[in-house]
Amino acid sequence: MEKLDVLKQEVEKLAKSISKSSKFIKGTPVILKRKCGQKGCKCVKGEKHSSLYLSKSVKGKTAMTYIPKKYEQEIYSGVEKYKTIIKKIEKISEINLEILKLKKELKKNIK
Ligand SMILES: [Zn+2]
Repeated sequence: MEKLDVLKQEVEKLAKSISKSSKFIKGTPVILKRKCGQKGCKCVKGEKHSSLYLSKSVKGKTAMTYIPKKYEQEIYSGVEKYKTIIKKIEKISEINLEILKLKKELKKNIK
């Protein structure tokens, strides 16, 4: 098989695998410790509550979103999926560029 066809197939494969996963989430999970301020709570004695937040950059500012316990697993797996998708998108971009370069070379060979 021609190198061009191999590359085109690889792009197709990557694009298909991206379209299969939609549960991705952008952001960085951060665990913050804080006091709730309620009288008699363990946090008053120094045992602070730790909660998960999703840190995200919005227009240059960092936004923190509180994540309830029951969604923690979803956030962690969503963030991992997002990273994988970004890697695949970058790979597709590289290959597409390589395909263009190859095509130029093919033209040269015709001359
Ligand atoms: Zn507390």
